Amino acid sequence: MQIKELYALKHPVISFEVFPPKNNSGLADIYAALERMSKLSPDFISVTYGAGGGVNSGLTSEIASFIQNKYGICSIAHLTCIGASHESISSLLAQIKHKGVRNILALRGDLPEGISEHEGSYKYAEDLIRQIRALGEFCIGAACYPEGHIDCDDLNYDTACLRRKQEAGADFLITQLFFDNDFYYRFVERVRDGGVTLPISAGVMPILSRKQIERMIFLCGASLPSGIIKLLRKYENSPEALYSAGIEYAAKQISDLIDHGADGVHIYTMNKPEIAEFCMKYIGRA
Ligand code: FAD
Repeated sequence: MQIKELYALKHPVISFEVFPPKNNSGLADIYAALERMSKLSPDFISVTYGAGGGVNSGLTSEIASFIQNKYGICSIAHLTCIGASHESISSLLAQIKHKGVRNILALRGDLPEGISEHEGSYKYAEDLIRQIRALGEFCIGAACYPEGHIDCDDLNYDTACLRRKQEAGADFLITQLFFDNDFYYRFVERVRDGGVTLPISAGVMPILSRKQIERMIFLCGASLPSGIIKLLRKYENSPEALYSAGIEYAAKQISDLIDHGADGVHIYTMNKPEIAEFCMKYIGRA
């Protein structure tokens, strides 16, 4: 099934994200996690891709295909284009199609070490979106940023870039994580005013540890609201309590997003089924 049809049929669309293991020895763990997640009947599951074709990037389409075939759950393969050639992307698209996956999250990606932008044929995600759209065989998702992309300091410019992804052929959008829902509500208003009409799923990632959160905010530039800072302080000597409180905070965020009519919620599960289980129970979907 194509994901754009889900947005036409359901409201809100609830989805999970998983990532492939770094090496094959982690495969059993991801398959065990998917077994538990499948019981929650998410509307779709996305599988990330290492920019520049990192280690085990072939596993993205493998796992996406497994999700569809074993559980009958719609899946989407992420694909990044930075540093890649048209030929390598064409061959990856053929591989994804061969595995029966019909949904792609088309991304630019961030340059991995040792690869120069000039080595590749793509500058922006919209170049990849256009290439996939021309094939006419895939439903295409794209990324968006409630607080603006980390390299872009003008929100109006950010909206214009998003409109270009829509014009290039994207069918729906998934946001970067954010910890304050007001950023999402303001973002939706801003981009709707700017002519973006695509369904937008809100990406939510729970805080599991101080180290994880520090890494994420420097990577994507998300703001930390005082509610999160207080949690980090309250549980600074109690990692297990912080882990539970972080998941609960995310579940509350999701519930509020649903109450405010979000088109969809995309849960960054970090391959931890207990996160998906807690959130789905909290919103009455399990
Ligand atoms: P783009 O849309 O190309 O934007 C990149 C920058 O270029 C932005 O600053 C934008 O403002 C600017 N820009 C865009 N178009 C134009 C234009 N026409 N002219 C001038 N400037 C322009 N990374 C991975 O490596 N693997 C993954 O699996 C992955 N999954 C993700 C899933 C989601 C939901 C999100 C939100 C991000 C994901 N990322 C992933 C991270 C993503 O690759 C990075 O955020 C990357 O820096 C930007 O990707 P993009 O597709 O948004 O790029």
